[in-house]
Amino acid sequence: MIKLYTHLNEILTLAGAQLKDGRRLKAQDLSLIQDGAIVFDEAEIHWVGKTAELPEVYSKLPSLNLQEHVLTPEIVDSHSHIVFGGDRAQEYARRLNGVPYEQIAKEGGGILYTMKETNAARPDQLFQLAKERIERLHSLGVGTIEIKSGYGLNFHYEFELTQIIHRLKQHFAPKVQIFNTYLAAHDVPRDFESSAHYLDEVVLPLFDKVAGEGIIDAIDIFHEKNYFSTDDCQKLFSRAHALNIPIKIHADELNDNDGARLAVSFKALSADHLLKVSAAGIQALAESATVATLLPGTAFFLGKPLAPARQLLDAGAKVALASDFNPGSCHCDNLLLIASIAAPQLKLNQAELWAGITLNAAHALGLSQQGALIPGMKPRFALFKADSLAHITYHWGKNLAVKAE
Ligand SMILES: [Zn+2]
Repeated sequence: MIKLYTHLNEILTLAGAQLKDGRRLKAQDLSLIQDGAIVFDEAEIHWVGKTAELPEVYSKLPSLNLQEHVLTPEIVDSHSHIVFGGDRAQEYARRLNGVPYEQIAKEGGGILYTMKETNAARPDQLFQLAKERIERLHSLGVGTIEIKSGYGLNFHYEFELTQIIHRLKQHFAPKVQIFNTYLAAHDVPRDFESSAHYLDEVVLPLFDKVAGEGIIDAIDIFHEKNYFSTDDCQKLFSRAHALNIPIKIHADELNDNDGARLAVSFKALSADHLLKVSAAGIQALAESATVATLLPGTAFFLGKPLAPARQLLDAGAKVALASDFNPGSCHCDNLLLIASIAAPQLKLNQAELWAGITLNAAHALGLSQQGALIPGMKPRFALFKADSLAHITYHWGKNLAVKAE
């Protein structure tokens, strides 16, 4: 059914950002329309412009007057770990009180602790917990969410997590789009002598199985010293190419491991974290289609220096922001809040901020038909009760997102 919204205070179209492929953006690339109207059906946007300039052919459509509101492309959270059991509040308190993370991890904390809690929960419980988290994200204006497995860490439980994400995807479509990323290579369980051994025994055989069932949208790996080596990544990525499954990577977070260049050499959708990315890595990203995904919430929560966003942007890289929502290093599900706080710290202009959580975040998931409100694109947008676009992030931490009807 064809629909018409009119008299929006502002529509953020990002038409300029779309033309520039999300790179080297200036404020005018927001391409804002005041007193805007939009015509769309389930499949695509037909027309966007000023209400006063609505073409005659659409003038008889039943319309919804949305004065006092702002319309933006829907927010895309392109990096999350939403399916998990238990929490790590005690670990957080210990970190605040001066215990180093290395010691916590040595004592069985960190990812391996969440693995135990997740594997102790039943699939229906994990589904229910994740469903409630996704509903909350949706209430904040998020319409597409990438979810990684990675707290199962053995053949049986990683398969179960991947199936739970698939169930969530079916449950929420089309209201919320879920992107299912297979991250069995998140950490190396203690019963394996090496990362290579775990890769051969679990990650690769299960990859073949879930890819064969057609239930995953991408693979990911934690490329880091004491986790997975460059050799491990190359092995996994080669298999991904053979199976025609897109690649994402946790890259250059704790050390410069040349992860950005590795990602680019395998035409990854995105390289994520990048706190320690080298100048060569920045250059490689800038010359590629691989999105540089920054997760400033994690750096905030761990008290670490932020990623070199300005260098990436000025070099011409496509930069996205994501939440990294997880029980350990970033227990925050509110990407818009993270972006509001991060923008002044990372020195982002308003177009870079908004493209980072919409257009470029969609590209980080290979979704080229959303992220800008222009004719022909998918009608995936978020509505806010706000006087202007600026009010949405100016009032940081207050949720202004509303439903259209
Ligand atoms: Zn992550």
